[in-house]
Amino acid sequence: MNLNQLTITEAREQLQRREISAVQLTEAVLDCIRGTDDRVGAYITVAAESALDQARQADQCIARGEASPLTGIPLAVKDIICTRGLTTTCASRMLSDFVPPYDATVVERLKQEKAVIVGKTNLDEFGMGSSTEHSAVKITRNPWNLAHIPGGSSGGSAAAVAADMCLGSLGSDTGGSIRQPASHCGVVGLKPTYGRVSRYGLVAFASSLDQIGILTKSVSDCALLLEAIAGHDPRDSTSAPQPVPDYTAAFQKRGLEGVTIGLCREYQTAEGVDPEVTAAVSAAVNRLQSLGARCVEVSLPHVEYAVAAYYVLSPAEASSNLARYDGVKYGFREKTADNLMDMYKKTRSRGFGPEVQRRILIGTYCLSAGYYDAYYKKASQVRSLIADDFKKAFSLCDVIASPVAPTPAFLIGSKTADPLTMYLSDIFTLSTNLAGVPGMSVPCGFSGKGLPIGLQLTGNYFDEAALMRVAWNLEQSAGVRGRKPSLSMENK
Ligand code: GLN
Repeated sequence: MNLNQLTITEAREQLQRREISAVQLTEAVLDCIRGTDDRVGAYITVAAESALDQARQADQCIARGEASPLTGIPLAVKDIICTRGLTTTCASRMLSDFVPPYDATVVERLKQEKAVIVGKTNLDEFGMGSSTEHSAVKITRNPWNLAHIPGGSSGGSAAAVAADMCLGSLGSDTGGSIRQPASHCGVVGLKPTYGRVSRYGLVAFASSLDQIGILTKSVSDCALLLEAIAGHDPRDSTSAPQPVPDYTAAFQKRGLEGVTIGLCREYQTAEGVDPEVTAAVSAAVNRLQSLGARCVEVSLPHVEYAVAAYYVLSPAEASSNLARYDGVKYGFREKTADNLMDMYKKTRSRGFGPEVQRRILIGTYCLSAGYYDAYYKKASQVRSLIADDFKKAFSLCDVIASPVAPTPAFLIGSKTADPLTMYLSDIFTLSTNLAGVPGMSVPCGFSGKGLPIGLQLTGNYFDEAALMRVAWNLEQSAGVRGRKPSLSMENK
């Protein structure tokens, strides 16, 4: 086994026993990127030199006996999270040369632990999309079958973990952008509770929904990373003061006695769900029951309006957040303009891609006088009803199990011409963000074509530990670990 194939948990043990060095580990990851990423396209920037530098420092730290859990672990960061001195493009022409003068809090915390930042991963421009096809830089391909999308918008982060081009990564999730690519690439993905992880330094898409989270090869790795990045940050006024529990201790309980799994009635009848997804999810739920969990039916009567509400609220917030890219303050500026107004128009027309422009137009319309009550206000009311649905459901169960996406990863190009079809691939993930509760995707099976399928677990506010306990038990028994992506176009 090559070193880059290790999980964080395994690598950490070997580093601390000095069987391997952080430099060897980082070199293995960089070699893998060199040999693989021209086919996958997971990275926008590979920071080989600074990564090796950080690895050398990590080795010194380990030698001094001062290692933290993530010391020397090569990680990737979605290119929408600010990294000091390292370009942060948001996969947009608008920010193609933007080098942040500061680190996001999450990056700062990883650096404090002396983790190694390998590079920045591809995404749908500003996080807007479900396939990573809306990147202005390039598309990313699914390592399990290169003809398919990796999911989005954190497609680069998911593909990099799946193809062993890093040991774990950070992503962001506004409506499913961690869970959905995690499901499509066969890795573990966690969107924590809104407020659990600081968003200082995360470029804003829709501020009331955005959350930074984690993609890893295993549930234990996810716990280690969450412990490192979670917790209050005075620089983010939405970050919660709750103490960070010892997640690792919380989940390693074999068996699920005393755990109640909710099955959402409305999700059972959702249209357009691939039978292979339904079969993999029911098999996973049966497995959870055989491990001791009790299942109950719960109702989330308003989730059927989640897509409509989300695609009003998130563009509205995006239209406001993206107003700052005007060619004046920073980022791209169109130089051929005749006057100020012309400069704004040309800068924004050429700097933003078509999906981003579509969202700005929808959002501006929804917020405009005369339409605000009908769209933005209505959608906000629906959002409160969805949050209430979850509160009621969590009085009856600990965790809700459902599909992550209605189908396994689709073919590249198959949905780009029809934005509505693309939006509908988010039906199972959006309501989690609207309510602010935590959600996780854990691998639970494969389609006949060999594409991964994930199980979505949704939990109560700040109860990430319950998600990890269920996910870890499933992971131990699901029989999906150990399979590796083929990195080819072939159907198995
Ligand atoms: N697919 C959703 C969208 O296009 C969610 C994106 C995200 O979570 N960043 O907006």
